[in-house]
Amino acid sequence: TATLYVVATPIGNVTDITLRALHLLALSDVVACEDTRKTGALLQRFGLSKQTISAHQHNEREVADKIVERLRSGQRVALVSDAGTPAVSDPGARIVDAVREAGLNVVPLPGPSAVITALSASGFVNDRFHFIGFLPAKSKQRESALAELVRETSTLVIYEAPHRIVDCVEGLMAVFEPTRQVVFARELSKLFEEVHRCPLGEALAWVKADQHRERGEFVVLVEGAVPETDAQDAQAERILQILLTECS
Ligand code: SAM
Repeated sequence: TATLYVVATPIGNVTDITLRALHLLALSDVVACEDTRKTGALLQRFGLSKQTISAHQHNEREVADKIVERLRSGQRVALVSDAGTPAVSDPGARIVDAVREAGLNVVPLPGPSAVITALSASGFVNDRFHFIGFLPAKSKQRESALAELVRETSTLVIYEAPHRIVDCVEGLMAVFEPTRQVVFARELSKLFEEVHRCPLGEALAWVKADQHRERGEFVVLVEGAVPETDAQDAQAERILQILLTECS
């Protein structure tokens, strides 16, 4: 049966590509990618020359239909994004959805993803994480998105676009206690990789200590909140009732 292969590619170091990904890309008739130049360069690095079609967030729906047609005509189609795993804070989900809707097969090829890479080096002992991806760009919306997460006990995972790391830290400081542990995983698998963990209260100083830190790609992890027990909740409720009675 016709199959769409969803192929993860490196997030920095090109040698992180998997053998299976290379094999599959070599066998594919066409590679659907976010940026044909970037993927063309990756393919070339491994001596592959393939037809590429552009599938980015602005044309995904139309391209999805074309991919379904190609699959129906017997072509083998690989889907990649610029870096990491397609459809994770990247285009791809609409294409996968259309292929599934058409009753065709989807096979994912596991590989690099910034979320998992950052979590693996965090040292946070917590099996749960809450993936947020990109926060809203405007500070008010960002703060209210974060405020909703203040009692979340899972590790929070935030993707930050280059240039916005200071805004991100300021948003976190507006909402979370300065003692909350945070991890900055920067330029993972690249030359200037850093994974730094500190209390939130020390984070801005760390970011500002080196001007290079205001560039580069970041995953920001925030330690989950200490779970509030039912007893604590009940106690807080009682105190609130007492205060309300005294006020009235
Ligand atoms: N699909 C990708 C994945 O599987 O991780 C994510 C793509 S998203 C458009 C780009 C964001 O991922 C960056 O802004 C950054 O937050 C994170 N990211 C990607 N590569 C990274 C790297 N090498 N180091 C740190 N963060 C990275």
